[in-house]
Amino acid sequence: MRKENKIYCNSCGKRIVDTIGRDMEEYIHIEKIWGYPSEKDGECHSFDLCEPCYDKMTAAFVLKPEIKEETELL
Ligand SMILES: [Zn+2]
Repeated sequence: MRKENKIYCNSCGKRIVDTIGRDMEEYIHIEKIWGYPSEKDGECHSFDLCEPCYDKMTAAFVLKPEIKEETELL
């Protein structure tokens, strides 16, 4: 979640460092605008997860996320 220009992991509450530098961390941001026929029609839900919480979440998946190696690294 974003608060005062800072990003926090919604799962563990930890602040995510997203500025360029040695302590910079990767994280995921998910945003979903629900539409018909969802009960959440018209609502936008969003959250951020730090990498350890992402790993915990995906570890609980029955079918694991697809992983592809990016050949062109930024
Ligand atoms: Zn976390």
